[in-house]
Amino acid sequence: MDTKVLKPTEENIRYAGSLIAAGQLVAFPTETVYGLGADARNGAAVASIFRAKGRPGDNPLIVHVSESGEILPLVSGIPAQARILMEHFWPGPMTLIFPRSDRIPDEVSAGLDTVGIRMPSNPVARELIRRSGCPIAAPSANRSGRPSPTTAAHVYEDMNGRIPVILDGGPCEVGLESTVIDARGPVPVILRPGGITPEMIRAVAGDVRLDEHIMAPVAEGERVRSPGMKYRHYAPEARTVIFEGTPEKVIAEICRRYDAEQAAGGFPAILGFETHDYGGRRVLSLGVPEHPDEAAGRLFAALRELDTEKRTLALCEAVSLEGIGLAVMNRMGRAAAFDIIRIE
Ligand code: AMP
Ligand code: MG
Repeated sequence: MDTKVLKPTEENIRYAGSLIAAGQLVAFPTETVYGLGADARNGAAVASIFRAKGRPGDNPLIVHVSESGEILPLVSGIPAQARILMEHFWPGPMTLIFPRSDRIPDEVSAGLDTVGIRMPSNPVARELIRRSGCPIAAPSANRSGRPSPTTAAHVYEDMNGRIPVILDGGPCEVGLESTVIDARGPVPVILRPGGITPEMIRAVAGDVRLDEHIMAPVAEGERVRSPGMKYRHYAPEARTVIFEGTPEKVIAEICRRYDAEQAAGGFPAILGFETHDYGGRRVLSLGVPEHPDEAAGRLFAALRELDTEKRTLALCEAVSLEGIGLAVMNRMGRAAAFDIIRIE
């Protein structure tokens, strides 16, 4: 199959919508990362997403809608806290967990009795959903295990020959996947951090809790509330280590290990802030420390770059856990299998 990369003109979005309506797959931009979409009501179409990605069958998909009202046939109730969060943060990078209706095929929810739903803010995504005339089930448009795609070129790298169309809407605004929240109880629980931060949720819901697996690895066979958490994810071929602590000491330690790796015949790279002086060593920029949103926007492209350059070791600077920094550290942490070294 020939994969076409199309500009998101009205005509091309209409064409892509007709493919989805006919049970085919389309990759499309959202404000978080690129999604790989199919008609969420069509079990066979959804099953082909899992095949194209090589995704484990027990990892559920998020359903995307263009208006809040479209969730009504998909859920069996709207919990009170979920309603408040929808009103504040939709459209936007937030997925809510709902009890599902029988309109959701088992392939979407991977056997759970819930469904994750989100209303994206990206205008191309919204228009595609409208043109398709159906809710769109879409995971990130990467091959399973690779970093999520934040440009159409990343999607092409992973999906060329596997899907008919990629809509190219340019780089994604946030660059990390949506915040996943279980708001079925009195206190919303963040299952996966993202662009809607704990601080923002607490401000409207009064309180918020973090799932214990956000900054910790999942043990073999352990049950988790967000199935995606248990898979090795985002991991480049390079051994990846994170350093946190006093900047001067972190920089010195990263330089020391970089030089040792080189001396041993390896090919290291640094994921660090561009305001830090690494004396000409190869740095993939995370922006500046004061703006973790820049790190969010650059992290996945940098992880892909490590593979493209065939690096053997990635030495990463930790980002502050505030705001979207928590989401950056969750993804970086998983890429590094939570190998985090503290240097005071
Ligand atoms: P992706 O779109 O590739 O980021 O994957 C979607 C992720 O959302 C999954 O890996 C899960 O962790 C989470 N998710 C989706 N649906 C549910 C659900 N019903 N319950 C809990 N987590 C969910
Ligand atoms: Mg994914």
